[in-house]
Amino acid sequence: MPRTFDAIIVGAGQAGPALAGRLTGLGKTVAIIERHLVGGTCVNTGCKPTKTLVASAYAARLAQRGAEYGVGTGPLSIDMPVVAARAQKVIMDSRKGNEDWLGSMPGLTLIRGHARFTGPRQIEVNGETLEAPQVFINVGGRARIPDFPGIDEVDYLTNSTIIPLQAVPGHLVVVGGSYIGLEFAQMYRRFGAKVTVVEMGPRLVGREDEDVSAEIQAFLEAEGVEVRTGACCITLGKHPQGVQVGVDCTEGAPEVVGTHVLLAVGRVPNTDDLGLDKAGVAMDEHGYIVVDDHLKTTADGVWAMGDCNGKGAFTHTAWNDYEIVAANLLDGEERKVSDRIPGYALYVDPPLGRVGMTEAQARRSGRPLLVSKRMMTRVGRAVEKGETWGFMKMVADAETKKILGAAILGTGGDEAIHGILDMMNADASIGTLQWAVPIHPTVSELIPTIVGDLKPAD
Ligand SMILES: Cc1cc2nc3c(=O)[nH]c(=O)nc-3n(C[C@H](O)[C@H](O)[C@H](O)COP(=O)(O)OP(=O)(O)OC[C@H]3O[C@@H](n4cnc5c(N)ncnc54)[C@H](O)[C@@H]3O)c2cc1C
Repeated sequence: MPRTFDAIIVGAGQAGPALAGRLTGLGKTVAIIERHLVGGTCVNTGCKPTKTLVASAYAARLAQRGAEYGVGTGPLSIDMPVVAARAQKVIMDSRKGNEDWLGSMPGLTLIRGHARFTGPRQIEVNGETLEAPQVFINVGGRARIPDFPGIDEVDYLTNSTIIPLQAVPGHLVVVGGSYIGLEFAQMYRRFGAKVTVVEMGPRLVGREDEDVSAEIQAFLEAEGVEVRTGACCITLGKHPQGVQVGVDCTEGAPEVVGTHVLLAVGRVPNTDDLGLDKAGVAMDEHGYIVVDDHLKTTADGVWAMGDCNGKGAFTHTAWNDYEIVAANLLDGEERKVSDRIPGYALYVDPPLGRVGMTEAQARRSGRPLLVSKRMMTRVGRAVEKGETWGFMKMVADAETKKILGAAILGTGGDEAIHGILDMMNADASIGTLQWAVPIHPTVSELIPTIVGDLKPAD
């Protein structure tokens, strides 16, 4: 006889535990199944440890620049075991917090093991069959391992294995010049490694506007990160110094030799070994679970939340998926994924805060546009902090006067972008800010100014 619950949640990442809290709060019995670490990617190998490491790298950078501020810091040294221990503490505290939270939910059963569907709303784990009228999939994703020639011959790092490193690599080759790769590239350069970023596309972070890519490349190069773009046929091979990465770029040497190589070429959803076919849950050609605007899958009584549905790739989008499912199922509200205004940050230093469309996307939409851009050299707060790389940019619809998107690439950009994100969520027109009195000196105080500077796009 299968063990029955009111609901089964597969994966204890960012959406599952929160939903478990709501369901058990209503007196329902819930099984949550986790095959590895409670907290999932964000807690154990993603946001939390990487941002902790980024903070150490920032401290190193400030120490390197100490003399510019009139501060003598002596010879710089990096104690990697301490750096790694700091990240490990953040991981462990957060994981334990999540485990304690789950443990406090009455009616919740946490089952450790790999879950697989064996039929509609029927799941097998550790040889036992579970059933529930409602199943929520929250299985997340993992680093994509590309089939580069020679990949089986070399030891490579991923976001999971690089986090506990106890020593700074001599020369780290980062394959993938996008969000994850660039955070590690700058961080390890600041820890003292020689770093080369190898990117297949013609520019870094190719989904962003060209001026954003160019500025990020410029400040990375200014710190000594080497960037090789247009690396079309990447190969890997053993080398006496470690690893040889064939880059076949249009310019420069055809190979880069490093001591370590990090693969940061995207993510794949953890849906390949989930028995989705047995449950009638459809996937797209990339393995993402097909969901509607309410996150329902193609099978009755089955929902998919977080990275595995391909609708978002962030902790806040996974969390918002939980909110959407809970609102629709438990609160009698109607909330949709398509109402979500996309916002995110790239935690290079200075960070990139982003919301809505890029300028290129807005131009492609064909509507009449207003655009404005201000360099961080003209933002008082950035000048005072001695952190003047970057710019802030906004694009608005010339007819509706609504903001379409913005980028703040500059000191505090990850925080300041929320001034614009909140305006977009409030569906406010650009004139709304006219009488706001922002705090001086901040990066955010320039938001009304860039609104005032909006001009018709050429
Ligand atoms: C290096 C890195 C840095 C990042 N930085 C940020 C950031 O700064 N900000 C941000 O918003 N996002 C960041 N992200 C993305 C963020 O981590 C993810 O978007 C988020 O964790 C997705 O949450 P999730 O709940 O969908 O899945 P996950 O957190 O991946 O959780 C899924 C869980 O399901 C479990 N599981 C999978 N399959 C099964 C199965 N068959 N049976 C049982 N359990 C299973 C897994 O073990 C895992 O614990 C980063 C990601 C990486 C890799």
